[in-house]
Amino acid sequence: MKKVLAIDVGGTKLIYAIINEKGEFLSEVKKTATPKNIEELKNTFKKIISENEKEIDFTAFATAGAVNIENTKVESSTPNMPLGYNSLNFTELSSKPVFVENDANAAAWAEYKTGAAIGEENNITITLGTGIGGGFIVNGKLLRGKSGRAGEVGSMKIQGRGRICTCKRKDCFESYASGSGLKKTAEEIAKNNSIFLTSIYKTKKPEEITTYDIIAGLKENDEYSEKVFNIWKQDLIIGLINITNIFDPESIILSGGMGEFINTKEIEEAINSEIVVSPVKIKPAKAGNYSGMIGAALLACEKF
Ligand SMILES: [Zn+2]
Repeated sequence: MKKVLAIDVGGTKLIYAIINEKGEFLSEVKKTATPKNIEELKNTFKKIISENEKEIDFTAFATAGAVNIENTKVESSTPNMPLGYNSLNFTELSSKPVFVENDANAAAWAEYKTGAAIGEENNITITLGTGIGGGFIVNGKLLRGKSGRAGEVGSMKIQGRGRICTCKRKDCFESYASGSGLKKTAEEIAKNNSIFLTSIYKTKKPEEITTYDIIAGLKENDEYSEKVFNIWKQDLIIGLINITNIFDPESIILSGGMGEFINTKEIEEAINSEIVVSPVKIKPAKAGNYSGMIGAALLACEKF
């Protein structure tokens, strides 16, 4: 059975483990801080690989950023990563084959192979965190597009309220329906709606209200928090309706930090009442925090 060293590259930490072609862990998961400069990062990758190289058949990376069609390089700018990250040739890090895939795509593959979407040949995993990532499984295959960059659902435009996204474009889906989108909505409503005057957060500055405040406010029956959350949910539903109508998936899996706060049944009903394709199931993610590693390892097993 093939053995893969899987490395999940995040802006603050690298996590890695050896995984077999069934997605089972053969080693404990190790963590280390992500170095802030490219030479150190490269050396850290090389060190991790050389420590494990004897035991493995190849290495698989899951990383932020768009990955090229050959799965050898990150091509888009990734603000949390050291400068020069997108000129790093991953295949030079090891004498054995190296595979690299976008982390949202890898997470989607993990949900399909080991998580919430097993056996569903058309499914989509949407990661709701600081931004929004997406991985699309179409007819049992990961949708990669002509350049490897398909599935950038966070940059889908919706008819929004003129909000400027972190990417400087206007009205990206992720500027509304991500965790930071919720925070932005909280700020706007606090500034412009009298409902804030009776909120438990009325003494806070609008720009200091966090996503956690809003989630906590829901439990306190705070009307302001409920209003903010409902607007956020509606923005999310609009995006998911569009995705459902285009891809006709069996399921959409919601993962990431914000995924935990969603009543999936309620969202499912709202979506299914407005679509023209057959009903979709909305489910929480199941592959866990290591879905990036698992997905990258299993995709690498398909390739090598
Ligand atoms: Zn954007």
